[in-house]
Amino acid sequence: MSKKWIKNGIVVTSTDTYQADLLIEEGKIISIGKMPDISDAEVVIDASGLYVFPGAVDEHTHMSMPFNGTESLPWETETVAAAVGGTTTIVDFALQAKGSSLADTIRKWQTRAAENTAIDYNLHVAITDLTNEIMEEIPTAVKSGVSTFKLFMAYKGELMVDDSTMFRMLQKAKEVGALVMVHAENGDVISLLQQQLLAEGKTEPYYHAVSRPIDIETEATHRAIKLAKAAGSPIFIVHVSGGEPAQEIRRARASGQPVFAETCPQYLFLDETYLALPGFEGAKYVCSPPLRERSQQEQLWNAITDGTLQTIGTDHCSFDFKNQKNLGRNDFSKIPNGGNGIEHWIPLLFTYGVKAGKITLNQFIELISANPAKFMGLYPRKGTIAIGSDADLVLFDPKVEQTITAASHLQGSDYNFYEGRQVQGAARHVLLRGEVIVKNGIYVGSLSQGQFIHAKPFGAAYRINPLARGITNEGKPVETGAAL
Ligand SMILES: [Zn+2]
Repeated sequence: MSKKWIKNGIVVTSTDTYQADLLIEEGKIISIGKMPDISDAEVVIDASGLYVFPGAVDEHTHMSMPFNGTESLPWETETVAAAVGGTTTIVDFALQAKGSSLADTIRKWQTRAAENTAIDYNLHVAITDLTNEIMEEIPTAVKSGVSTFKLFMAYKGELMVDDSTMFRMLQKAKEVGALVMVHAENGDVISLLQQQLLAEGKTEPYYHAVSRPIDIETEATHRAIKLAKAAGSPIFIVHVSGGEPAQEIRRARASGQPVFAETCPQYLFLDETYLALPGFEGAKYVCSPPLRERSQQEQLWNAITDGTLQTIGTDHCSFDFKNQKNLGRNDFSKIPNGGNGIEHWIPLLFTYGVKAGKITLNQFIELISANPAKFMGLYPRKGTIAIGSDADLVLFDPKVEQTITAASHLQGSDYNFYEGRQVQGAARHVLLRGEVIVKNGIYVGSLSQGQFIHAKPFGAAYRINPLARGITNEGKPVETGAAL
């Protein structure tokens, strides 16, 4: 069997940084260390001057997702952009259509992804209709490799679930070792504020933010945390957008409750002034929760560095400005919610996180790769560089400088969230299970290479003491049904 030898690179994991060679066989890392000449290596890559990262695991994407009569941009373009940026696994949200079974929902997403994804993936099912049949189907879904479920507390009349649904799901999740992920915004109040604003003729994109003040995110975050506590289940709050909701999480964790959470690059790098751009440009920046006041950014960085937030995911849910965002030209509530970022989130966080001195190189890998893999039940197959792990590797050149622009990006959208940003660092080569899919920054893979990866239940949320700062030394895989 052919071997690949990556030599002279600086290996970076969530815990360590060291110079080592890697040997890969059958898609796995089989040896790490200083190696003599590997005479039978079929491929030799000299990684001198490069970091060798585990491929990023983006736990929060929406590919080809229906929204307000349109669909977010597809697997075909967005996973290639992801690969070139250094992301080798995504966990995408499969939306349960009302009346559909979990098996049908999972199959629908897998069918859509099959032959259309450049990188590996797993799925969360977003439950919109929790009938008794669905409750009974949950253990089967977990056995089929889906161990995370999403509940929306917002999008009333579409995706939103009520509190009793959320509570029932939390009760069920702990029985089977699943993790409930929550979009925490109060959908009832948003719906009311939308109606009031529109009745006053306030239709422009900026009113999207006015209709979703941070207090209603904080309230929903608090409610979700308390319901999880009452149900005795861990919970994971997605896309925390500011200091106050983060404070709810911090407080719960300080009491020992297993509450975990994510933020996204847009809340660290963009702010609500973008929504006020003239000529409907603000529609480009409509996502939920909305972009916040700039002062929230520092509070989010603090929440990252003090361990309140464990992961960063992109919430990549990309739409075209001209064709799709336009659906809300006369009504902000109809603007498709979502933005892009999967192509550049790694250099953005490297530049404005690591190089700016906010986080260490190891924390960076913890946030974008190790911790997402741990919480999503994919570790240590994904999220680290270790013997036996998948050889999903990013050979990252920290010296390259680039200006982010839609003119040259690979993402399908006609605009870029981070247009004009200067960033440092870029993936030079990317390997997916040992196969080179990006060579010298150019995508050379095929869309049939990405595979569905089974997630294991009882992931990190069941095994981490929230009072511990990090989850750095945790990580032995646990088999189905293992004790908490
Ligand atoms: Zn999302």
